[in-house]
Amino acid sequence: MHEMSLCEGILQILQDNAKTQNYTRVHRVRVEVGQFATIEKDALHFCFEVVCRNTLAEGAALDICTAAANTWCMACGKAVVIEDRFSPCPDCGSYQLQTDGGDDIRIKDLEVN
Ligand SMILES: [Zn+2]
Repeated sequence: MHEMSLCEGILQILQDNAKTQNYTRVHRVRVEVGQFATIEKDALHFCFEVVCRNTLAEGAALDICTAAANTWCMACGKAVVIEDRFSPCPDCGSYQLQTDGGDDIRIKDLEVN
């Protein structure tokens, strides 16, 4: 499962940061998920709980927010917001769109002590 390896990656970061930032418990993790990322939020919550068992992040809350991708329309030359990766430009209908990001996941914020 894709979500499981993502959570393992998040936990790895938490453990690495714990050494450099001197914390021993993680209470809350806020992650930002790109709007085009194929991530099931329920699965992410579930996997996070499983992966964090018996670690410094056991029982930590996971907040997931969605980040809009930066999309650029090459036909009309401006930044646009599209609903999904296969949508045309909402202004001119062109499919010549360039998308930057939108399919990654990153940690925004942590509550630790
Ligand atoms: Zn356009």
